[in-house]
Amino acid sequence: MSFERERRQMLADIEADVAFTRELTGRDHLDESVMTAMYQVHREDFVPDSQRHASFRDGALPVGYGQTISQPYIVALMTDLLDLRADSVVLEIGSGTGYQTAVLAQLASKVYSIERIPELAQAAQQRLTDLGYDNVEIHCADGSLGWPENAPFDGIIVTAAAASIPPALLAQLKPGGRMVIPIGLPNMHQDLMLVTSDQQGKTEISKILGVAFVPLIEGS
Ligand code: SAH
Repeated sequence: MSFERERRQMLADIEADVAFTRELTGRDHLDESVMTAMYQVHREDFVPDSQRHASFRDGALPVGYGQTISQPYIVALMTDLLDLRADSVVLEIGSGTGYQTAVLAQLASKVYSIERIPELAQAAQQRLTDLGYDNVEIHCADGSLGWPENAPFDGIIVTAAAASIPPALLAQLKPGGRMVIPIGLPNMHQDLMLVTSDQQGKTEISKILGVAFVPLIEGS
Protein backbone atom coordinates (compact mmCIF):
# COMPACT_ATOMS: atom_id res chain seq x y z
CA MET A 1 0.00 0.00 0.00
CA SER A 2 1.40 3.42 -0.89
CA PHE A 3 -0.48 5.46 1.74
CA GLU A 4 -0.25 8.42 -0.70
CA ARG A 5 -3.70 9.74 0.23
CA GLU A 6 -3.00 9.39 3.98
CA ARG A 7 0.35 11.14 3.60
CA ARG A 8 -1.28 14.11 1.82
CA GLN A 9 -3.92 14.22 4.56
CA MET A 10 -1.20 14.28 7.23
CA LEU A 11 0.38 17.31 5.52
CA ALA A 12 -3.02 19.02 5.33
CA ASP A 13 -3.55 18.33 9.07
CA ILE A 14 -0.15 19.86 9.86
CA GLU A 15 -1.03 22.96 7.80
CA ALA A 16 -4.34 23.26 9.63
CA ASP A 17 -2.59 23.01 13.03
CA VAL A 18 -0.03 25.61 11.94
CA ALA A 19 -2.84 27.98 10.91
CA PHE A 20 -4.68 27.31 14.19
CA THR A 21 -1.62 28.11 16.34
CA ARG A 22 -0.19 30.98 14.26
CA GLU A 23 -0.86 33.60 16.96
CA LEU A 24 1.21 31.57 19.43
CA THR A 25 4.03 30.51 17.15
CA GLY A 26 4.24 33.63 15.00
CA ARG A 27 4.32 31.44 11.87
CA ASP A 28 1.45 31.01 9.45
CA HIS A 29 3.27 28.40 7.41
CA LEU A 30 6.29 26.16 7.79
CA ASP A 31 9.25 26.21 5.45
CA GLU A 32 8.61 24.25 2.26
CA SER A 33 11.74 22.17 2.87
CA VAL A 34 10.29 21.02 6.22
CA MET A 35 6.96 20.07 4.62
CA THR A 36 8.84 18.17 1.91
CA ALA A 37 10.81 16.27 4.57
CA MET A 38 7.53 15.42 6.36
CA TYR A 39 6.23 14.05 3.08
CA GLN A 40 9.39 12.11 2.28
CA VAL A 41 9.85 10.39 5.66
CA HIS A 42 7.28 7.61 5.87
CA ARG A 43 5.87 7.60 9.39
CA GLU A 44 4.49 4.10 8.99
CA ASP A 45 8.10 2.82 8.86
CA PHE A 46 8.66 4.03 12.42
CA VAL A 47 5.59 2.86 14.33
CA PRO A 48 5.05 -0.67 15.65
CA ASP A 49 3.02 -2.92 13.31
CA SER A 50 0.09 -2.75 15.72
CA GLN A 51 -0.08 1.03 15.22
CA ARG A 52 0.43 1.18 11.45
CA HIS A 53 -3.25 1.86 10.76
CA ALA A 54 -2.90 5.04 12.87
CA SER A 55 0.44 6.17 11.38
CA PHE A 56 -0.98 9.23 9.71
CA ARG A 57 -3.26 10.40 12.50
CA ASP A 58 -2.06 13.79 13.71
CA GLY A 59 -1.32 12.64 17.25
CA ALA A 60 1.35 10.91 19.35
CA LEU A 61 1.38 7.09 19.41
CA PRO A 62 2.76 4.55 21.90
CA VAL A 63 5.94 2.81 20.72
CA GLY A 64 6.75 0.59 23.72
CA TYR A 65 8.94 1.09 26.82
CA GLY A 66 6.42 3.71 27.99
CA GLN A 67 7.55 6.06 25.20
CA THR A 68 5.75 7.73 22.29
CA ILE A 69 6.37 8.89 18.74
CA SER A 70 5.51 12.60 18.66
CA GLN A 71 2.59 14.22 16.84
CA PRO A 72 3.54 15.02 13.20
CA TYR A 73 2.62 18.70 13.65
CA ILE A 74 4.98 19.00 16.63
CA VAL A 75 7.78 17.19 14.73
CA ALA A 76 7.31 19.61 11.82
CA LEU A 77 7.11 22.71 14.04
CA MET A 78 10.19 21.82 16.09
CA THR A 79 12.13 21.10 12.89
CA ASP A 80 11.03 24.43 11.39
CA LEU A 81 12.08 26.32 14.53
CA LEU A 82 15.64 25.01 14.11
CA ASP A 83 16.03 26.84 10.75
CA LEU A 84 18.36 24.13 9.41
CA ARG A 85 20.66 24.53 6.43
CA ALA A 86 22.16 21.77 4.30
CA ASP A 87 25.44 22.08 6.21
CA SER A 88 23.91 22.09 9.72
CA VAL A 89 25.10 19.69 12.38
CA VAL A 90 22.31 18.77 14.78
CA LEU A 91 22.11 17.13 18.19
CA GLU A 92 18.85 15.39 19.09
CA ILE A 93 18.05 14.15 22.60
CA GLY A 94 15.45 11.35 22.71
CA SER A 95 15.80 9.32 19.49
CA GLY A 96 12.77 7.16 20.35
CA THR A 97 11.75 5.51 17.08
CA GLY A 98 14.10 7.67 14.99
CA TYR A 99 11.21 9.39 13.18
CA GLN A 100 12.19 12.93 14.15
CA THR A 101 15.83 11.94 13.53
CA ALA A 102 14.97 11.00 9.93
CA VAL A 103 13.15 14.29 9.32
CA LEU A 104 16.23 16.17 10.59
CA ALA A 105 18.54 13.98 8.50
CA GLN A 106 16.63 14.98 5.34
CA LEU A 107 17.55 18.62 5.96
CA ALA A 108 20.89 18.69 7.81
CA SER A 109 24.32 17.36 6.94
CA LYS A 110 24.71 15.30 10.14
CA VAL A 111 22.44 14.29 13.01
CA TYR A 112 23.82 13.04 16.31
CA SER A 113 21.04 11.56 18.41
CA ILE A 114 21.06 10.25 22.00
CA GLU A 115 18.55 7.80 23.49
CA ARG A 116 18.73 6.43 27.03
CA ILE A 117 16.80 3.15 26.44
CA PRO A 118 19.26 0.73 24.78
CA GLU A 119 16.57 -1.27 22.91
CA LEU A 120 15.10 1.90 21.38
CA ALA A 121 18.53 3.30 20.50
CA GLN A 122 19.54 0.09 18.78
CA ALA A 123 16.22 -0.32 16.93
CA ALA A 124 16.26 3.31 15.77
CA GLN A 125 19.84 3.07 14.46
CA GLN A 126 19.03 -0.18 12.63
CA ARG A 127 15.84 1.26 11.14
CA LEU A 128 17.60 4.40 9.89
CA THR A 129 20.49 2.41 8.44
CA ASP A 130 18.02 0.10 6.67
CA LEU A 131 16.23 3.16 5.26
CA GLY A 132 19.53 4.40 3.83
CA TYR A 133 20.37 7.26 6.20
CA ASP A 134 24.15 7.46 6.36
CA ASN A 135 24.32 10.84 8.13
CA VAL A 136 22.88 9.72 11.48
CA GLU A 137 24.70 8.47 14.56
CA ILE A 138 22.73 7.24 17.57
CA HIS A 139 24.33 6.81 20.95
CA CYS A 140 22.84 5.28 24.11
CA ALA A 141 23.43 7.63 27.07
CA ASP A 142 21.94 10.39 29.20
CA GLY A 143 21.36 13.10 26.63
CA SER A 144 21.13 15.88 29.19
CA LEU A 145 24.93 15.84 29.15
CA GLY A 146 24.96 16.36 25.39
CA TRP A 147 27.68 14.88 23.17
CA PRO A 148 30.77 17.04 23.89
CA GLU A 149 33.04 15.19 21.41
CA ASN A 150 30.93 16.41 18.49
CA ALA A 151 30.01 19.85 19.85
CA PRO A 152 29.27 22.63 19.09
CA PHE A 153 25.97 22.12 17.24
CA ASP A 154 24.05 24.43 14.90
CA GLY A 155 20.81 23.00 16.23
CA ILE A 156 19.84 21.12 19.38
CA ILE A 157 16.42 19.50 19.69
CA VAL A 158 15.16 17.81 22.83
CA THR A 159 12.10 15.58 22.39
CA ALA A 160 11.44 14.93 26.09
CA ALA A 161 10.43 17.51 28.69
CA ALA A 162 13.10 18.84 31.07
CA ALA A 163 12.48 20.73 34.33
CA SER A 164 14.94 23.36 33.10
CA ILE A 165 17.40 23.75 30.23
CA PRO A 166 20.36 21.40 30.89
CA PRO A 167 23.47 23.64 31.16
CA ALA A 168 25.59 21.14 29.17
CA LEU A 169 23.26 21.56 26.18
CA LEU A 170 23.44 25.35 26.30
CA ALA A 171 27.24 25.09 26.43
CA GLN A 172 27.23 22.89 23.28
CA LEU A 173 25.14 25.30 21.17
CA LYS A 174 27.17 27.07 18.48
CA PRO A 175 27.05 30.91 18.44
CA GLY A 176 24.22 31.66 15.98
CA GLY A 177 22.63 28.28 16.72
CA ARG A 178 19.12 27.40 17.88
CA MET A 179 17.72 24.97 20.43
CA VAL A 180 14.14 23.76 20.83
CA ILE A 181 13.20 22.10 24.09
CA PRO A 182 9.99 21.41 26.01
CA ILE A 183 10.23 22.67 29.58
CA GLY A 184 7.96 21.55 32.41
CA LEU A 185 7.35 18.80 34.92
CA PRO A 186 5.75 15.44 33.97
CA ASN A 187 1.95 15.64 33.81
CA MET A 188 2.13 19.38 34.45
CA HIS A 189 2.03 22.29 32.05
CA GLN A 190 4.93 22.23 29.62
CA ASP A 191 6.02 24.90 27.16
CA LEU A 192 8.02 24.44 24.00
CA MET A 193 10.90 26.92 24.28
CA LEU A 194 13.15 28.30 21.57
CA VAL A 195 16.68 29.33 22.52
CA THR A 196 18.48 31.47 19.98
CA SER A 197 22.13 32.31 20.25
CA ASP A 198 23.64 35.33 18.50
CA GLN A 199 27.07 35.43 16.85
CA GLN A 200 28.63 36.37 20.21
CA GLY A 201 26.95 33.38 21.88
CA LYS A 202 24.48 35.53 23.82
CA THR A 203 21.23 33.56 24.19
CA GLU A 204 17.60 34.60 24.20
CA ILE A 205 14.74 32.34 25.21
CA SER A 206 11.18 32.55 23.94
CA LYS A 207 8.09 30.53 24.73
CA ILE A 208 6.38 29.03 21.69
CA LEU A 209 3.36 27.03 22.86
CA GLY A 210 2.03 24.49 25.39
CA VAL A 211 2.98 20.86 24.68
CA ALA A 212 2.87 17.38 26.29
CA PHE A 213 6.05 15.30 26.23
CA VAL A 214 7.33 12.30 28.16
CA PRO A 215 9.91 13.37 30.76
CA LEU A 216 13.63 13.78 30.11
CA ILE A 217 15.16 11.42 32.66
CA GLU A 218 18.43 12.92 33.82
CA GLY A 219 21.28 11.33 35.67
CA SER A 220 20.81 7.75 34.48
N1 SAH B 1 11.56 11.88 18.83
C1 SAH B 1 11.02 10.56 19.11
C2 SAH B 1 10.04 10.54 20.27
C3 SAH B 1 10.75 10.75 21.52
S1 SAH B 1 9.91 10.22 22.99
C4 SAH B 1 10.35 9.99 17.86
O1 SAH B 1 10.24 10.70 16.86
O2 SAH B 1 10.00 8.82 17.89
C5 SAH B 1 11.19 10.75 24.11
C6 SAH B 1 12.40 9.86 24.13
O3 SAH B 1 13.34 10.46 24.99
C7 SAH B 1 12.12 8.46 24.70
O4 SAH B 1 12.51 7.48 23.80
C8 SAH B 1 12.94 8.43 25.99
O5 SAH B 1 13.48 7.15 26.29
C9 SAH B 1 14.04 9.43 25.66
N2 SAH B 1 14.72 10.01 26.83
C10 SAH B 1 14.20 10.41 28.01
N3 SAH B 1 15.18 10.92 28.80
C11 SAH B 1 16.34 10.85 28.10
C12 SAH B 1 17.69 11.23 28.37
N4 SAH B 1 18.07 11.78 29.52
N5 SAH B 1 18.62 11.00 27.40
C13 SAH B 1 18.28 10.45 26.20
N6 SAH B 1 17.02 10.06 25.90
C14 SAH B 1 16.05 10.27 26.83
